Amino acid sequence: MLEGKTAVVTGASRGIGRAIALKLASQGAAVVINYNGSEEKAREVEEQIRENGGQASIFQCNVADYAQCERFIQDVIKTYGSLDILVNNAGITKDGLLMKMSEEDFDQVIDTNLKGAFNTIRFASRQMLRQKSGRIINMSSVSGVTGNAGQANYAASKAGLIGLTKAAARELASRGITVNAIAPGFIETDMTDALSDQVKEASVAQIPLGRFGRPEHVAAAAAFLASEEAGYITGQVLHVDGGMVM
Ligand code: NAP
Repeated sequence: MLEGKTAVVTGASRGIGRAIALKLASQGAAVVINYNGSEEKAREVEEQIRENGGQASIFQCNVADYAQCERFIQDVIKTYGSLDILVNNAGITKDGLLMKMSEEDFDQVIDTNLKGAFNTIRFASRQMLRQKSGRIINMSSVSGVTGNAGQANYAASKAGLIGLTKAAARELASRGITVNAIAPGFIETDMTDALSDQVKEASVAQIPLGRFGRPEHVAAAAAFLASEEAGYITGQVLHVDGGMVM
């Protein structure tokens, strides 16, 4: 299904990115597992893919750093000769009420979650334009669609990703490149594990399906948007949230 395709997944050492890397590899793509600090975990994902007969390699890059992203994407193209699927999944939270949020916490979240996606798209789209095909998938969030108290930085970054997705979709459509976003709700990963039991209970109460999702639920959506079958879908936001937003 994705044989012969090269896929870059940012933040693939853990959580949702890891599940997306495993899923795309299981469909035949050669997967580039990007990480920032968790080298050991990234290696475990690489090993798991190889044990299952797939192709994978790991690349360290802080997506918030423009120059590092340029080198990263150039290295991928040099190594694989093509870049067909880009999943901008790397993300962080630095939650706090707006009145108390430091400038640094605001900037770090925007730089990683929003500018990080711009940085990789900036260089990957050049190659995709040459190839006249490509799939770009940006990981937004329900928080970017509805807003969330205590997440002004995160919600702004995730809403920004939706605007970036739509602008890029319009710019790149004529060359056969689709750009879509996924907006997960609450998914069981390290990110949501950090929430208190009280917040988790209150969150579940807002989910019509009555439970948190799993990384595999988001990976299935990403694999669909990366597929040939999704070739007529662009500029969309696919919600994977148990019905939180409808
Ligand atoms: P996670 O378990 O905390 O994993 C985050 C991943 O992002 C890690 O692989 C981490 O790599 C990577 N990362 C962080 N900063 C990076 C940087 N500067 N450069 C490169 N990689 C970086 O998070 P998750 O829950 O899987 O979330 C993945 C994405 O889904 C995020 O964009 C998040 O905002 C979004 N999302 C998650 C949920 C949820 O409920 N979990 C809901 C909506 C949206 P290292 O370990 O190497 O640092």
